[in-house]
Amino acid sequence: MSRLPAGVMREATIDVDAIADNVRHLRRLTESEVIAVVKADGYGHGAERAARAALAGGASRLGVADIGEALALRRAGIRAPIVAWLHAPGSSFDEAVAQRIELGISSFEQLQRAAAASSGDRPAHVHLKLETGLGRNGVAPEDQRLVFAEAARLERIGRLRVVALFSHLSNTTADDDRAAIAVFDKSVEIAASLGLRPPLTHIAATHAAIALPESRRGCVRIGIGIYGLSPFDDRTSADLGLRPAMTLRAAVAAVRRVPAGQGVSYGYSFRTPRETTLALVPLGYADGVPRHASNVGPVSIAGAGFRVAGRVAMDQFVVDVGDAPVQVGDEVVLFGDPTLGVPSASDWGDAAGTINYEIVTRIGARVPRREVP
Ligand SMILES: *Cc1c(COP(=O)(O)O)cnc(C)c1O
Repeated sequence: MSRLPAGVMREATIDVDAIADNVRHLRRLTESEVIAVVKADGYGHGAERAARAALAGGASRLGVADIGEALALRRAGIRAPIVAWLHAPGSSFDEAVAQRIELGISSFEQLQRAAAASSGDRPAHVHLKLETGLGRNGVAPEDQRLVFAEAARLERIGRLRVVALFSHLSNTTADDDRAAIAVFDKSVEIAASLGLRPPLTHIAATHAAIALPESRRGCVRIGIGIYGLSPFDDRTSADLGLRPAMTLRAAVAAVRRVPAGQGVSYGYSFRTPRETTLALVPLGYADGVPRHASNVGPVSIAGAGFRVAGRVAMDQFVVDVGDAPVQVGDEVVLFGDPTLGVPSASDWGDAAGTINYEIVTRIGARVPRREVP
């Protein structure tokens, strides 16, 4: 059984080769260039680490939500194209443009702000985002002609470069996504008629990129897939040829032999049915272990599967290991690559009534990330 490094109580190991391999696999599978989405600290894996691994695997561009996330990658020395698409109201785009951050633009007003941030021979690079039915941001259909015409004008005078038209899908049903794609295609035609023919269009995130080939357009924005996790309820990572990059583990902090009827953790929502051994795991909801997984979250100790006993607390939870010879210091794996016999992030999502995205993204700052191999 592997053990944690001496003195380490909990950690998330990040297999950077898995991220690179997942990008390679998805490039091949989709026959498209990959915008690797590394927002939210690389879905909890570390944004810079995920970005470097994704670029090593052949991603052509990085995607983040906020400009602040993009600037942090620039400060870390990453020179690849980066697009950021969610902006504070009224904020200046000056620093973003100076740092060659591409801007996802969702309104006429944002377009003007982007042009205002251009300077001298440096036009603002933008991806125009179109609302096609998700109901989030994106240029509204009724504003599109105005925005396209103004973007084309700004492009002609050298203030702007439109890199892409893009949108985002709801993954509700294939038909819903096809309807959104039809709206998108119409907009692309309208843009062309107004003189806007950007080199890229992109609409698919992981789900559509895999499940709906007509969404690919030669360029896909992949988040969850690069981390080796499946966006589908009914298909595992392995089914998709992906390898989960994050393993969350801890060292057993204490063991205690207790009689039948022992209450466990706050509220005694679990009582031992017989004499048994309780193992204390030093990870709690402050570390991203969902309290909703109390009494159900799965763990693996020495190759055997157990469940959380009682409530998950802020810093720790308890596992009833029966008569297994578990000792202080033994490795407890919460999730990792299920082909290795441990639970998956999706298992934790199921246990807590959420999704694997939320499980990995919420792993707390108190959990050190360590790159492997
Ligand atoms: C987060 C996000 C993605 C990535 O989605 P996945 O399902 O993780 O692949 C792509 N595009 C946009 C606009 C996003 O916000």
